[in-house]
Amino acid sequence: MAPLRISFLIRSVYDLLPSNANLVRWGKKDDPTCPLCQGRQTTEHVLSSCKVALSQGRYTWRHKRVLQELASVISTAKGKSTPLQQAQQYSPQKVESKNGTEGRSQ
Ligand SMILES: [Zn+2]
Repeated sequence: MAPLRISFLIRSVYDLLPSNANLVRWGKKDDPTCPLCQGRQTTEHVLSSCKVALSQGRYTWRHKRVLQELASVISTAKGKSTPLQQAQQYSPQKVESKNGTEGRSQ
Protein backbone atom coordinates (compact mmCIF):
# COMPACT_ATOMS: atom_id res chain seq x y z
CA MET A 1 0.00 0.00 0.00
CA ALA A 2 1.28 3.44 -0.89
CA PRO A 3 2.65 5.42 2.08
CA LEU A 4 0.13 8.23 1.60
CA ARG A 5 -2.76 5.77 1.71
CA ILE A 6 -1.41 4.22 4.89
CA SER A 7 -1.03 7.68 6.39
CA PHE A 8 -4.60 8.58 5.44
CA LEU A 9 -5.91 5.30 6.87
CA ILE A 10 -4.12 5.74 10.19
CA ARG A 11 -5.09 9.40 10.52
CA SER A 12 -8.73 8.60 9.72
CA VAL A 13 -8.86 5.82 12.32
CA TYR A 14 -7.41 8.08 15.02
CA ASP A 15 -9.37 11.18 13.92
CA LEU A 16 -6.26 13.11 12.96
CA LEU A 17 -7.40 14.33 9.53
CA PRO A 18 -7.79 18.09 9.05
CA SER A 19 -11.57 18.23 9.38
CA ASN A 20 -12.93 21.64 10.33
CA ALA A 21 -13.60 20.37 13.88
CA ASN A 22 -9.95 19.29 14.22
CA LEU A 23 -8.67 22.53 12.67
CA VAL A 24 -10.62 24.45 15.32
CA ARG A 25 -9.25 22.13 18.03
CA TRP A 26 -5.71 22.70 16.73
CA GLY A 27 -6.20 26.49 16.67
CA LYS A 28 -5.95 26.72 12.87
CA LYS A 29 -9.52 27.77 12.15
CA ASP A 30 -12.45 29.39 13.94
CA ASP A 31 -15.43 27.68 12.33
CA PRO A 32 -16.05 23.91 12.64
CA THR A 33 -19.12 23.81 10.39
CA CYS A 34 -19.51 21.71 7.27
CA PRO A 35 -19.76 23.89 4.15
CA LEU A 36 -22.43 21.55 2.75
CA CYS A 37 -24.88 21.14 5.63
CA GLN A 38 -23.69 23.58 8.32
CA GLY A 39 -23.37 20.68 10.79
CA ARG A 40 -20.18 20.09 12.79
CA GLN A 41 -17.60 18.77 10.32
CA THR A 42 -15.79 15.89 12.01
CA THR A 43 -13.85 13.17 10.21
CA GLU A 44 -16.80 10.80 10.63
CA HIS A 45 -19.10 13.48 9.24
CA VAL A 46 -16.93 13.92 6.13
CA LEU A 47 -16.42 10.23 5.50
CA SER A 48 -19.91 8.87 6.13
CA SER A 49 -22.59 11.00 7.71
CA CYS A 50 -23.08 14.34 5.97
CA LYS A 51 -26.74 14.33 4.96
CA VAL A 52 -26.20 16.72 2.03
CA ALA A 53 -23.34 14.61 0.64
CA LEU A 54 -25.53 11.54 1.08
CA SER A 55 -28.49 13.14 -0.72
CA GLN A 56 -26.22 14.26 -3.59
CA GLY A 57 -24.89 10.74 -4.14
CA ARG A 58 -21.31 11.64 -3.21
CA TYR A 59 -20.80 8.51 -1.10
CA THR A 60 -22.15 6.29 -3.87
CA TRP A 61 -19.84 7.99 -6.38
CA ARG A 62 -16.84 7.50 -4.05
CA HIS A 63 -17.83 3.86 -3.42
CA LYS A 64 -18.02 3.20 -7.17
CA ARG A 65 -14.65 4.88 -7.78
CA VAL A 66 -13.02 2.64 -5.15
CA LEU A 67 -14.56 -0.46 -6.77
CA GLN A 68 -13.39 0.67 -10.22
CA GLU A 69 -9.87 1.11 -8.88
CA LEU A 70 -9.93 -2.34 -7.27
CA ALA A 71 -11.23 -3.90 -10.50
CA SER A 72 -8.46 -2.18 -12.45
CA VAL A 73 -5.75 -3.44 -10.07
CA ILE A 74 -7.14 -7.00 -10.11
CA SER A 75 -7.45 -6.97 -13.88
CA THR A 76 -3.88 -5.76 -14.27
CA ALA A 77 -2.60 -8.35 -11.79
CA LYS A 78 -4.42 -11.16 -13.62
CA GLY A 79 -2.77 -10.15 -16.88
CA LYS A 80 0.73 -10.27 -15.43
CA SER A 81 2.63 -13.48 -15.02
CA THR A 82 4.50 -14.28 -11.87
CA PRO A 83 8.33 -14.28 -11.85
CA LEU A 84 8.25 -18.10 -11.83
CA GLN A 85 5.99 -18.15 -14.90
CA GLN A 86 8.27 -15.62 -16.61
CA ALA A 87 11.29 -17.84 -15.90
CA GLN A 88 9.48 -20.89 -17.31
CA GLN A 89 8.63 -18.97 -20.47
CA TYR A 90 12.25 -17.89 -21.02
CA SER A 91 13.88 -19.33 -24.07
CA PRO A 92 17.41 -18.33 -25.05
CA GLN A 93 17.83 -17.42 -28.68
CA LYS A 94 20.41 -19.09 -30.87
CA VAL A 95 23.16 -16.76 -31.97
CA GLU A 96 26.03 -17.30 -34.32
CA SER A 97 29.42 -16.25 -33.09
CA LYS A 98 32.07 -14.55 -35.23
CA ASN A 99 33.89 -17.84 -35.77
CA GLY A 100 30.74 -19.56 -37.12
CA THR A 101 29.93 -21.66 -34.08
CA GLU A 102 26.50 -21.68 -32.57
CA GLY A 103 25.87 -20.50 -29.09
CA ARG A 104 23.05 -19.22 -26.98
CA SER A 105 22.38 -15.70 -25.90
CA GLN A 106 21.61 -14.94 -22.28
ZN1 LIG B 1 -22.15 18.14 6.15
